[in-house]
Amino acid sequence: MKNKVLIIGAGFVGATSAYAIMNRGLASEIVLVDIDEKKAEGEMMDLNHGATFVKPVRISTGDYEDCRDASIVIIAAGANQEPGESRLDLAEKNTAIFKKIVPQIVDYTKDAILLVVTNPVDILTAVTRKISTLPANKVMGSGTVLDTSRFRYLLSLHCKINPKNIHAYVLGEHGDHEVVAWSLTSIAGVPFRDYCVLCGRGHNSRDFMDEISGKVRNSAYEIIEKKGATYYAVGLAVARIVESIFRDENTILTVSTVLEGQYGLKGLALSLPAIVGHGGAEKILDLKLSEEEEKELVESGEILKGILQGLKI
Ligand code: NAD
Repeated sequence: MKNKVLIIGAGFVGATSAYAIMNRGLASEIVLVDIDEKKAEGEMMDLNHGATFVKPVRISTGDYEDCRDASIVIIAAGANQEPGESRLDLAEKNTAIFKKIVPQIVDYTKDAILLVVTNPVDILTAVTRKISTLPANKVMGSGTVLDTSRFRYLLSLHCKINPKNIHAYVLGEHGDHEVVAWSLTSIAGVPFRDYCVLCGRGHNSRDFMDEISGKVRNSAYEIIEKKGATYYAVGLAVARIVESIFRDENTILTVSTVLEGQYGLKGLALSLPAIVGHGGAEKILDLKLSEEEEKELVESGEILKGILQGLKI
């Protein structure tokens, strides 16, 4: 697998993803493509000037032709959320952009893994799969990889534990209907509820869980309200997915993929824990959730399905 990444959309998210990928030494080549060629060129120059501080990487601007030998094509192009605007409000605007972008990618490659980051990421993952006609494992969205990190971070503050030692997942839509899967949360192999009893900090009440879930769900709105956009953490999330693909890690990540019957859901994309390696999202884990979580997940899927049907792709 050639370690070449093409990034379409060199805005806040695309450029920060390039920076995170470069900084972690994951790619030998990164190509930036943007309708705003001047912006792509500026980002390319700025990134290249860090060449002496990172592992060798060729960074250039380019066009869809450069997809030909890319192993991963990241799509971060499109409109961003305005303050107060939900991710789903962006569906029509960004679907129109994807109808132009995706056919140009598959004109040049059917081998690359397509990684969608543009919001609403689940809708656009399904749109990309449909337009590209690539197999389900080759089209994924960054999904709730970022939300899962936010959740683990918040728990780490309360439990005073390294977030890497906290196993937890946010599932479903990357957005207002996401499902914080408390039933799958564990620390040191101990279910979260039992861990809380053990450590005696009394953080397993319903109120505490609702407060944390709310903070996870609303953090993007808060950041957008304060600084206009979110990009550092999502850039790192994108780099983590790229790393798992290039290194064939088989890491479990909550990427968004088009479902094929899991929890009775089909033909729409949302996040479930998936094993990510060279083949992309190689296996989706259909884990047992609590009754309430499964109900929320199915509702999240039905909402996404309704939006997809309204888009007429
Ligand atoms: P931005 O406005 O900074 O960048 C978007 C870029 O896309 C611009 O440079 C623009 O010129 C380019 N673009 C627009 N149409 C294009 C086309 N047809 N072809 C090529 N390039 C095109 O926005 P941003 O902050 O980088 O956000 C990008 C997207 O990522 C938004 O939809 C945002 O909501 C989303 N996002 C997703 C997550 C996530 O977790 N999935 C997190 C943050 C932001």
